Amino acid sequence: MTIAFFSALPFEQTWFERYAGNHQITFIPKALTLQTAELAKGHRAICAFVNDDLSQSVLGRLKQIGVSIVAMRSVGLDNVDQEALETLNMKLLHVPGHSPYSVAEQAVTLLLGMIRHLPEAHNRVRAGNFSIDGLMGYDLHGKTVGIIGTGRIGKVVARIMLGFGCHVLAYDIRPDQKLMDDGVRYVLLEKVLQQADIVSLHCPLAPSTYHLINTQSLTSLKPGAILVNTARGPLVDTEVVLAALDAGLLLGYATDVYENERPWFHYDYSDQPITDELLNRLRCHPGVLLTAHQGFLTEEALRQTARFLLNQFSFYDNQQTVLVTKASMC
Ligand code: NAD
Repeated sequence: MTIAFFSALPFEQTWFERYAGNHQITFIPKALTLQTAELAKGHRAICAFVNDDLSQSVLGRLKQIGVSIVAMRSVGLDNVDQEALETLNMKLLHVPGHSPYSVAEQAVTLLLGMIRHLPEAHNRVRAGNFSIDGLMGYDLHGKTVGIIGTGRIGKVVARIMLGFGCHVLAYDIRPDQKLMDDGVRYVLLEKVLQQADIVSLHCPLAPSTYHLINTQSLTSLKPGAILVNTARGPLVDTEVVLAALDAGLLLGYATDVYENERPWFHYDYSDQPITDELLNRLRCHPGVLLTAHQGFLTEEALRQTARFLLNQFSFYDNQQTVLVTKASMC
């Protein structure tokens, strides 16, 4: 299989090269857009990531130049126009879920880093300032944590929080009996927001979850709550969250994602101006701890993604060979 691999990052390349077998992969550092789609010419498949553009027009262009398979190496498929894929008769391969621990542990890391002021503490020590004034945190033990979306990742976060001695509330459109048996209590979304000291988002981005955290839902939040987002940026209205932080309604926003992250995250802009004012406000706000979408970035998750997708390519190739052989025997 010939695969054009968009938004290729060096560390992913290592894993995909290791498991490539007979597949021929062209690694393209550029993101997939209408302008860069042309680079897939001569390939049967493309492999794309979270911030690639898989809208109808881009898919249409890919189809015109001979691409028939789209493989997603992200868990969320919110950037893929699946209706267009079907209409264009293109095959979708994707990772149903790599190590859920990678993202769950990122969520917990962000939370702990925020409540124990780790970035500030580390900067002080580096600068030779060993004062601990202003670094008071709080115990997680005994706090109430609200998990929104208890799928593969949310479940792991819930269990880690139970291990910390937290009370765990959850909201999901499909509650999980095993998690209830473990001590998680499912309640309505509004109750999670009203009662939790910490709210962690783990549901997919869909029209129904776009700006799930908005002016109205923020008014339900317990004063002084912390919001954690390792799911998708557009689940949160960033403007409204910044205002809630300024007003002291929200104590902190710990996030791995940002609603307009596509042109920025995973690229080095350290020697260029960052022209997104909302992003500038977010990354510089003292109540925000932000990472650039790296929840998936563990050795285990990358290895699983590479192996799983390349196996799917091989399986698909074999199926096609069987079909062609059967057809030629008829
Ligand atoms: P999953 O499909 O296993 O779980 C999602 C859960 O959300 C399901 O239980 C589902 O019933 C629930 N859900 C759906 N709609 C809901 C709604 N409106 N309200 C409440 N719950 C709802 O997915 P997962 O593997 O746990 O991943 C969760 C999300 O994490 C993904 O959709 C993706 O956006 C994000 N993610 C982020 C990273 C990262 O690097 N930061 C990596 C992987 C996944």
